[in-house]
Amino acid sequence: MAKWQPFLSKQTNELKSSEIRDLLKLTEGREVISFAGGLPDPSTFPVEDIKKIIDEVLDTKSSSALQYTATAGVSELRKQLVSFTALRGVTNINENNIFVSVGSQEALFIIFNILVDQGDHVFVEKPTYLTALNVLRVRKPEFHGVPVTEKGPNLHEMESQLKKLKSEGKRVKLMYVIPTAQNPAGTTMYLEERKYLMELASAYDFLIVEDDAYGFLVFDGDSPPSLKALDTEGRVIYLGTFSKILSPGLRLGWVVADEEIIRELELFKQNVDLHTPSLNQFVAAEAIKRGVIQTNLPKTRDLYRRKRDIMIDAINNYFPDAVKRTKPVGGMFVFAWLPEKIDTTKMLQEAMENGVAYVPGSSFFYDYSGRNTMRINYSFPSKSQIERGIEILGNLIKSKL
Ligand code: PMP
Repeated sequence: MAKWQPFLSKQTNELKSSEIRDLLKLTEGREVISFAGGLPDPSTFPVEDIKKIIDEVLDTKSSSALQYTATAGVSELRKQLVSFTALRGVTNINENNIFVSVGSQEALFIIFNILVDQGDHVFVEKPTYLTALNVLRVRKPEFHGVPVTEKGPNLHEMESQLKKLKSEGKRVKLMYVIPTAQNPAGTTMYLEERKYLMELASAYDFLIVEDDAYGFLVFDGDSPPSLKALDTEGRVIYLGTFSKILSPGLRLGWVVADEEIIRELELFKQNVDLHTPSLNQFVAAEAIKRGVIQTNLPKTRDLYRRKRDIMIDAINNYFPDAVKRTKPVGGMFVFAWLPEKIDTTKMLQEAMENGVAYVPGSSFFYDYSGRNTMRINYSFPSKSQIERGIEILGNLIKSKL
């Protein structure tokens, strides 16, 4: 790469490939049990339904489905998303509050670009979704971290930080938060905490970017209403995705927000990709309309609950007692705290030589702390791989104590 480096923009030069990504690349084409990704189990893809839908869409709507479309999305899908998002408690919205994106990742990219300037004060959970952090890092904000607890982010601690910032005359721009089946922690914010966060947002006048990637994938207890459902002031920008409930390959996500914000998103997206692929949008609209997603979801939740249980049992059997872990109520990941002296980034190479990969947890902390933590995925590996992989990992951890 050195040859072309002088041609790269300053920003691109700052986008360093992470040492972890480089290490994980080594798993490609090798017999490694990977707990590193965040892939759905492919058996959850409703292949036959999608085949049928694509055929019918092409038979009846090809002149729109294969054509350019509006930047905010295909009207049929935006309408369906109004009723679909109501399943997460979000009502009082219409088609104009919906924006369709290429996965929720594109929405995160656009939202942080339209809102965050260098030096802006931004709150994130500790830990939080690493690719959102990476997008934010490029914007160069002042980060403030809120530790995640069983109940959700520690809002008392957040409130003290907010008070302090206010006393210094500093304004907070936004909080990025994953309230439901958090990635990577797997925890879900209690309803009381959700209300408390909404009060803080109102009192200190900041926006909330709510990433609800796993909102439909809670398999223990209820999935509490989203923050957007509690939002009376329009300060929540809600992100949903089809990746975990239909197919990530379709690359479809959506935003629910105040119309004014939607217009800004549209302006930005015009420069990125004009619009999200039309055919995929028609497929998703039909998948909601025909109840394909709604019928499939209970099966997906059952499968992930069973896989979660197998992983938790395996951890209980093979990991030393000194390891603390979450018991996720939804989503796809267990997060673990190893004894302080173990650096999980350093241990990854050895784990891969033994045939197992995971994501070292420090990538999920804005300040790269949490060097003794790891994220382990249970949605993609098979049940026997989970058992075998956790045994290998447990033996490796024991050998370090
Ligand atoms: N947010 C969270 C919390 C995620 O875990 C993911 C995917 N792993 C995304 C956003 C982005 O997903 P997609 O672009 O496929 O919607």
